[in-house]
Amino acid sequence: DIDPLNICAVTVVPLPGARILPLTPGLDDGLFEHDGQITKREIRALTLSALAPRRGELLWDIGAGSGSIAIEWLLADPSMKAIAIEANPERSARIRHNAANFGVPDLNLITGTAPQILAGLESPHAIFIGGGGSDPGVLDAAIAALRPGGRLVANAVTLEMEALLLASHAEHGGSLTRIDIARPSPVGSMTAWRPAMPITQWAWMK
Ligand code: SAH
Repeated sequence: DIDPLNICAVTVVPLPGARILPLTPGLDDGLFEHDGQITKREIRALTLSALAPRRGELLWDIGAGSGSIAIEWLLADPSMKAIAIEANPERSARIRHNAANFGVPDLNLITGTAPQILAGLESPHAIFIGGGGSDPGVLDAAIAALRPGGRLVANAVTLEMEALLLASHAEHGGSLTRIDIARPSPVGSMTAWRPAMPITQWAWMK
């Protein structure tokens, strides 16, 4: 038996200027406060897909920058957990601000430099390396800390980092993807595609 008094229809009318978040990862870069060091929307969507979040899992976002990856991980489901690791205190403050703004203030934020700062943290189900990946010991520490069955995703822009990812792929397997994004840009009175720096992504399951 259904009590008709307990049934109601609610129409939500958003306030003018309200931020309405879509359900899919790859949110607009402009929704995050950042200083240019942010994994761009399309790359972020592909990165979250490769990280393959499952309910209740813990992510380490190493070199978290603006926190966009950890924040989108947390937005997937209220059961998600994330630790953002960022060496730069100014960016760290920005991560705190962004997390509060997105309604995920329980993001665990650690200001410090990988790999040293990683010691003793709870073992994660997934790790993203968006910065510091070419610092000695970071990739090895991430590989060691990851739980069996966990996913590691690392993005490279520089040749130095790419070389490390190629070597890691040769040693451990997994998959390599190259991501090229281009945007229209004026050329005189016409328009041409302006390529962004290509990204090499290594994804590996332990
Ligand atoms: N994925 C981020 C952007 C990362 S930019 C986003 O979407 O916002 C790379 C970041 O890595 C920078 O903020 C830099 O300060 C940080 N970083 C570089 N080396 C690091 C290290 N060894 N430990 C922790 N953070 C590091």
